[in-house]
Amino acid sequence: MKNQTVLITGASRGIGRAAALLFAENGYRIAANYRQSAEEIRRLEEEISAFGVPFLPLQADVSDPEAVEQMAEKAQRQFGGIDVLVNNAGISLIGLLQDTTAEDWNRIFGVNVNGAFYAAKAVLPGMIRRQMGRIINISSMWGVAGASCEVAYSASKAALIGFTKALAKEAGPSHITVNCIAPGVVMTDMNRELAASALEELREETPLGVIGTPEDIARAILFLASEEAGFITGQVLNVNGGIVI
Ligand code: NAP
Repeated sequence: MKNQTVLITGASRGIGRAAALLFAENGYRIAANYRQSAEEIRRLEEEISAFGVPFLPLQADVSDPEAVEQMAEKAQRQFGGIDVLVNNAGISLIGLLQDTTAEDWNRIFGVNVNGAFYAAKAVLPGMIRRQMGRIINISSMWGVAGASCEVAYSASKAALIGFTKALAKEAGPSHITVNCIAPGVVMTDMNRELAASALEELREETPLGVIGTPEDIARAILFLASEEAGFITGQVLNVNGGIVI
């Protein structure tokens, strides 16, 4: 959509990067958050320059409320407002619950849940003022179905679903939609730690018989940001090849 700005957290790699490219191709101004992958963001900026849309790299750890506030302010100052927020930054943790420390748990929730809360809180006043906006939270199929050995991650992604539904009710009267995408298995760095055999098992369990690509998820994000999705709010869109139905 022309003349709109999207802020994507975790845009340096994987799903966030694919979303940034697709939104740029569709004429959006791009505010691209990352935590540490400065070189990847520089390369993304180079690729996006081909689309001729403004690009603003924003370094911030989304688990830090002040950093998120400053990031949102900078993006709003530069572009005059945020039309679409994609809460995509996320981290995972594999291990038994009894091996999960309180520190692990808080780190997962700090990024996956608190990060979305801080970013939504920072952009909402502008969206409410303009009586428009889209917030898209990236959950996971494990937030829907639960994963053994990923209890903290699953719980954080389930929390995002509750966050989405409640905020959709609260922000709806201001013509702001809030939705969630629950991706299935997607080939990104996040799954690099998975053994090839585990990945193959997940592929076999997927009715469509394929592992998803970051672009599969990016297209769903773009749809939820579009005008055509204006009557959809508070929903969880499962983009997963059918692995969880
Ligand atoms: P990824 O390739 O590991 O990329 C993660 C992105 O998040 C990176 O850009 C990273 O930035 C950023 N990030 C991590 N911690 C951050 C922090 N504290 N502050 C700001 N940015 C931070 O992951 P992905 O697979 O694309 O995952 C994207 C989202 O989809 C996550 O929320 C994930 O839980 C969800 N998801 C993924 C899958 C899957 O199979 N891949 C499935 C379901 C859901 P840096 O590069 O700077 O570290």
